[in-house]
Amino acid sequence: MAEIQFIVHKELCIGSDKCGGICARICPPDIIAYVEENGKQVPCVNDIELCMKDHGCQNNCPVKAITILPPQEGGRNF
Ligand code: SF4
Repeated sequence: MAEIQFIVHKELCIGSDKCGGICARICPPDIIAYVEENGKQVPCVNDIELCMKDHGCQNNCPVKAITILPPQEGGRNF
């Protein structure tokens, strides 16, 4: 089984101050935290082994700044 990867496209992410921190709020195991980077609060994950692979962060980010690999069955859902 492939290792799960949480990939943030930092240039796309508008920061949790602007989007309301949707990716962290939607995460069932609550493993997304924000770190300041270039004036934006961008998401990072510490305990990736707790990821439930529901792809909620990826599918609900308003600017599509998150990619979770391996992809969701049936392709990307947005
Ligand atoms: S990745 Fe998307 S949902 Fe998460 S902080 Fe950035 S813009 Fe908001």
